[in-house]
Amino acid sequence: MQKFQGVDYFNADQLLNEEEILVRNTVRHFVDDYILPVIEEHYRAGTFPAPLIPKMAELGLFGATLPARYGCAEMNNVAYGLAMQELERGDSAVRSFASVQSALVMYPILTYGSEAQKDFWLPRLARGEKIGCFGLTEPDYGSNPGGMITRAERTKDGYRLNGAKMWITNGTVADVAVVWAKLDGIVHGFLVEKGTKGFSAPEMKGKHSLRASVTSELVFEDVLIPADNILPNGSGLRLPLSCLSQARYGIAWGAIGSAMACYDAALTYAQSRVQFARPIAGYQLTQAKLVEMLSEITKAQLLCVQLGRLKDQGSARFQQISLAKRNNVFHALAIAREARSILGANGILDEYPVMRHAANLESVITYEGTHEMHTLIVGEDITGHPAYT
Ligand SMILES: Cc1cc2nc3c(=O)[nH]c(=O)nc-3n(C[C@H](O)[C@H](O)[C@H](O)COP(=O)(O)OP(=O)(O)OC[C@H]3O[C@@H](n4cnc5c(N)ncnc54)[C@H](O)[C@@H]3O)c2cc1C
Repeated sequence: MQKFQGVDYFNADQLLNEEEILVRNTVRHFVDDYILPVIEEHYRAGTFPAPLIPKMAELGLFGATLPARYGCAEMNNVAYGLAMQELERGDSAVRSFASVQSALVMYPILTYGSEAQKDFWLPRLARGEKIGCFGLTEPDYGSNPGGMITRAERTKDGYRLNGAKMWITNGTVADVAVVWAKLDGIVHGFLVEKGTKGFSAPEMKGKHSLRASVTSELVFEDVLIPADNILPNGSGLRLPLSCLSQARYGIAWGAIGSAMACYDAALTYAQSRVQFARPIAGYQLTQAKLVEMLSEITKAQLLCVQLGRLKDQGSARFQQISLAKRNNVFHALAIAREARSILGANGILDEYPVMRHAANLESVITYEGTHEMHTLIVGEDITGHPAYT
């Protein structure tokens, strides 16, 4: 099979510097050489390709934008975004793994953690020796995490946690969980280590989507954690939401990767599949589909580069990140469905990546804020009227 050549209709590469292109191309080759050959097998088995973890660490993909003093690559936000794009071209599960480790575990430790927490956890997480997860969502509180019922109480030596989280990526395999719980009615972050008495993380089974990702419940039954395991620098729902903004930024890029994989598969297929004595690429209806896909990919690329530049300047607003996540995932899902139609019956086979991406994107459009919640975030921003309740 011919290697992926990229999709760049507007010469958007001109907007990238050499380092950004190098990161993109390095991760592109990694995806071709290591992810694509094994991903269907893992997807079918419902397992995460764990042997990729040290390789991803070597490429600097964990905490990629964090400071070098913690062993991180300290790349800029555009380079990081391009890396997420390529990973998700492989599979959303692999990008999700890197997003959770980087944006939802290392970022809160860097931003809200103590010096001791940073010194201990960040280098180990960067090297992939330790895996983290982020526990915010609860069975009864998804889009409205502020209602969470997981509670922390003070004890003589620290805190006692009770409650449950659900839908937690990497929960079962994580060495450390960043858990959000209310202490005296205010949200705080706690580091809960694997093996702590009363803490369990059973894997959730039966997913038709993100099958190559581990998704878990986290259960806390009188879990005693030391005083040093609270994230000391801040409190309130704003903390987990700030982590979600980091992760959503990576998702906005990642969705382009899924979309490119589907577009590429559909274009290649349409040129070789002959019906009524002509390649189906020669029919206007097929061309309309392909052009629609390319238009949306092109717009998403330009949007993400500018968003990354704003982020590097420190001026990206969370509402802009919401718009990008909302737009790019929505169109990636539409592209995956359209690509599936171009492939006809073959579109449902795992010989092609299309159905896998389509199924994955059904999770991606829901997690990290549903499509509707991002509509409400941007809607409030432009009108001044919150419409959540
Ligand atoms: C594979 C996967 C991995 C995940 N990983 C993590 C993780 O690592 N950590 C974590 O904390 N969470 C994780 N999540 C959870 C995810 O963030 C939640 O599923 C998401 O926030 C939505 O919550 P919910 O599923 O409870 O849906 P609900 O909040 O119940 O929403 C159901 C529907 O109602 C709509 N809705 C809700 N409120 C409103 C409103 N006010 N106005 C209009 N419509 C509304 C929603 O948009 C949606 O369409 C993961 C989810 C999945 C599927």
